[in-house]
Amino acid sequence: MREFALIDEIRSRVSNTRDDVVLGIGDDAAILAPRPGHELVVSTDTLVSGVHFPPNTAAFDVGWKALAVNLSDLAAMGAEPAWVTLALTLPEGSPEWPLAFVDGFAALAAEHRVALVGGDTTRGPLAITVAVHGFVPRGTALRRDGASAGDAIFVSGTLGDAAAGLAVVLADAFASRPERAALRARLDRPTPRVALGLALRGVASACIDVSDGLAADLGHVARRSGVGATVDVDALPASDALRACADPDRRRDWQLRGGDDYELCFTVPDDRVADAERAAAQAGVPIARIGTVTKRPGLVDAGGDALAPDRAGWDHFA
Ligand code: ADP
Ligand code: MG
Repeated sequence: MREFALIDEIRSRVSNTRDDVVLGIGDDAAILAPRPGHELVVSTDTLVSGVHFPPNTAAFDVGWKALAVNLSDLAAMGAEPAWVTLALTLPEGSPEWPLAFVDGFAALAAEHRVALVGGDTTRGPLAITVAVHGFVPRGTALRRDGASAGDAIFVSGTLGDAAAGLAVVLADAFASRPERAALRARLDRPTPRVALGLALRGVASACIDVSDGLAADLGHVARRSGVGATVDVDALPASDALRACADPDRRRDWQLRGGDDYELCFTVPDDRVADAERAAAQAGVPIARIGTVTKRPGLVDAGGDALAPDRAGWDHFA
């Protein structure tokens, strides 16, 4: 398929019905109408085959994940997603892969009413760069630098599933278990916690999405806020699938250090904890209280032992 035929296919497969898109795909650039009284929140993430997803991942799932990881960044800011661009570098090959990719991307875009407004299409080793744009009412974004000593620390959903899913793919782990598919699905089709991020505006003091592992990402919040954290490792939420497959040590390691879960980790002032619980219920997402923000820097477990930062999470340049 030629470049322009592919762009036409992309345009026809992704719905673009938003009245704040003045001009979408097809010109030299898109024209977009920002929302009065709001701030624009912008994030971009690249996915490289073999680095951010196993090369044998289904094309539909790669498309889903490329958008999901970007929406997750907006969720962590408390922003409502609106527009997205897609830069695709594709190797030679049949058109089936890019079309299935676009269908996965489009499925998640439709769920969140995000319009694909432009992009770029080139030949080369498979890589995908997505940029998302969203809105927050002025001054209400959730940031990493707002945590204070005494705040409660929460995490959404469950942790460690994606790391276990990666073990399923790379090491053929849990060969006899029916839970394999559930773990792999958490790796391949993460759920961005957009509704939870919106509901936490005005309630959470700081927020981050867990992409590199809880210890690493909570460490970012602590450093940026000039505080530390005590984490009750036994309180980290685990899925039934993870409990069924992994012994407690391995499970805990994945929950603390595994990447790719795309849950939200956030802090809440003590007197707002009930509001946070209401917000989560309203968003339909379970949350678990996993610790407390401390004045003393660094991350420790409930017994006071350091959660070693050198093993804290994924770092592409390590
Ligand atoms: P130009 O050469 O002027 O940059 P292109 O031929 O790259 O134009 O793109 C033509 C139109 O198609 C532009 O509106 C661009 O945003 C859009 N486009 C190209 N590739 C993609 C893609 N992968 N996804 C969405 N829109 C795309
Ligand atoms: Mg171009």
